[in-house]
Amino acid sequence: MPLTAATAAREILTGLHEVMARRGSAQAKLDRVVDLIAEAMKSEVCSIYLLRDSSLELFATHGLRKEAVHVTKLAMGQGLVGTIAAEGRILNLAEASTHPAFAYRPETGEEKFHSFAGVPIVRRENAIGVLAVQHADARRYEEVEIEALQTVAMVLSELIAGARLVDGSNRRRQRDGMVRLAGLKLVAGMARGTVVFHEPRVLVEHTVAEDIELERARVYSAFRKMREQIEHITREAEFGTAGEHAEILETYKMFAYDEGWSRRINEAIDSGLTAEAAIERVQQRTRARMLEIDDPLLKERMHDLEDLSNRLLRIVSGRLETAAKTGLNRDAVLIARNLGPAELLEYDRRRLKAVVLEEGSLTAHVTIVARAMGVPVIGRVPDIRHTAAEGDTILVDGDSGALVVRPSGPVSASFDARMAMSQKRRAEYVALRPFPPITRDGRRCTIMVNAGLAEDAEQLETVGADGIGLFRTEFQFLISATLPGRDSQLRLYRKVLDAAGDKPVVFRTVDIGGDKALPYLADEKDEAENPAMGWRALRLSLSRSTLMKAQARALIEAADRRVLRVMFPMISEPWEYEEARALFEEQVEWARAANRPAPARIEFGAMLEVPSLAEMLDQLLPRIDFLSIGTNDLTQFLFAADRADPRLAERYDWLSPAILRFLRRVAREAAAANVPVRVCGEMGGRPLEAMALIGLGINNFSITPAAVGAIKAMIRSLDADAVGARMEQLLAAPPRNMRKALADWAKRQGVVLG
Ligand code: PEP
Ligand code: MG
Repeated sequence: MPLTAATAAREILTGLHEVMARRGSAQAKLDRVVDLIAEAMKSEVCSIYLLRDSSLELFATHGLRKEAVHVTKLAMGQGLVGTIAAEGRILNLAEASTHPAFAYRPETGEEKFHSFAGVPIVRRENAIGVLAVQHADARRYEEVEIEALQTVAMVLSELIAGARLVDGSNRRRQRDGMVRLAGLKLVAGMARGTVVFHEPRVLVEHTVAEDIELERARVYSAFRKMREQIEHITREAEFGTAGEHAEILETYKMFAYDEGWSRRINEAIDSGLTAEAAIERVQQRTRARMLEIDDPLLKERMHDLEDLSNRLLRIVSGRLETAAKTGLNRDAVLIARNLGPAELLEYDRRRLKAVVLEEGSLTAHVTIVARAMGVPVIGRVPDIRHTAAEGDTILVDGDSGALVVRPSGPVSASFDARMAMSQKRRAEYVALRPFPPITRDGRRCTIMVNAGLAEDAEQLETVGADGIGLFRTEFQFLISATLPGRDSQLRLYRKVLDAAGDKPVVFRTVDIGGDKALPYLADEKDEAENPAMGWRALRLSLSRSTLMKAQARALIEAADRRVLRVMFPMISEPWEYEEARALFEEQVEWARAANRPAPARIEFGAMLEVPSLAEMLDQLLPRIDFLSIGTNDLTQFLFAADRADPRLAERYDWLSPAILRFLRRVAREAAAANVPVRVCGEMGGRPLEAMALIGLGINNFSITPAAVGAIKAMIRSLDADAVGARMEQLLAAPPRNMRKALADWAKRQGVVLG
């Protein structure tokens, strides 16, 4: 009989439909189902194995000995059936006994049968059983027959779940068990939580179609919508707003218009499946194929298709919301391929414990926003969306970049102990809140925080900081779809100043451009190879003076009789500072002349991020009120090492003599000119580094809020003069390992390093 997948499957499905509608026990139904499949597929044997008590138990058979039913059991991974379930694989063998996993079960009487084909019965992406056919002739089953088996397995999974034939706790296959993974540490912190997908997976509930034409229409319209969406994202990406990479979008586009894919889904609908089940069925086939592929590039592309298939499923079932829209339960760990900063901000901060991304980088906007929100992030964890399942327990250690999915008891306990330790430490830090950061020998340091959101200012008291030493004004630009107008900037700055009360806030003018390209500045898009050294920050602001004027006016008006503190990023030569300052001064004059609110006075600061400026300090220092060293950018330029490149992340140490000598020179010159110096890069938020900085005479820090306690504890246990003397010795004849030398000294001195 010429068999097409559709006719074979449809014949079986019609029969299955009747069986399911009939009254009777689930066992009786399964017994009928195997007869039905065997007949339709002209197969001598058809068997169903289901997962019960961690083994695959023969539940029903046509063709094998009936005595074997509920007697024959295979462990996960054991025999052909166990292999199919454990690996989610399809097997199609002309001679079953030649397969290395073959395990002979005499009670079944299967020795007469040579060929074997089996497919997993999948529920919620986990194998809950296996559907197998066997034949006396040694022949491989046709591809259409395998597809028919898969279709039937899908419908069976609905029947099995409905009848509760499998034990809920044993429903997992390769996802079973603990998995340790490592990624790139993006935002430090530890968290335990439950896996939530940013784009939730759709669980296919109904598999058998009532009206095939209706299902076809649903799929057509879903394809249309999906293509529109992809076109839209591509257009946005051209303006630099979309989180997705161009390469991925290209692949998305290719698959979205792929005739083969839509045809296979249509064929699955022809065989009697609902639109959802058809999409899922085709996806299962792709997943099974993926297991056969070794090429990592091709695998990556398959993941793209999986993404798209998930998107199609969400469109067809009308479940388009992200997890942010549906709301988080307590203690959620969010998993996504990538996220945009605005998408992250939609989540409830109190319930979001951590974020794990398959992509991501240190300087990605989402990372900066997550740091501001105080949410630990690990990035570059390949395949996390396939390793973890919704609802899994997950442990995230953002301090080391490690994570554990479905931890075992002992691993979980040890993680909890470490987390308790860090909480205890945090409690000790909280106790330090009312105390100022003064060294043992009486040197008053200042600890301010880096911020970028309005809420950050409200937390100043809670973290026990002296103010905001770096307010990254570009955050507002990054998370908004259009250029924030002067009024919305004004509202934000006023809110921040109001919340900070008496504590100082240093606003940094926008640091955009380069890798932080904004859609509404599309003409400024940087095509340079290295955007960090490109058309960004003050360079862009000075040429876009309307933008800078609007920001200056907003800041001036927001300050309204208070002191306004501003600083400019990425100054390479003093004239850039002078121009920026002049622009502000003109705006103040304008405000005063127009009788508009204006600050009591302005303190102007320069950021030292570009090494060339250090050569010109004699010119600059007399003109500024403070100097703020951006060690993130400064070190990348000193070492010529891209700060976004993970391969270089650990290579050059902030405690290298080159940086320390450079900073010492700057600190000395500034001290001689009586200009206060502050470090506002990540370096100042690390206890050992901050200790070294104090040794160089830098006593002011602006750091991530989470580090305030640790830095304060370090300062209060330190003798500033002693560390100064030690730094002099070490920099005179630098040891190969400066970090170790400093750590040893700190230990001997009893300096608290967290
Ligand atoms: C720096 O470069 O150190 C800095 C504080 O600025 P940003 O990290 O925002 O570039
Ligand atoms: Mg910088």
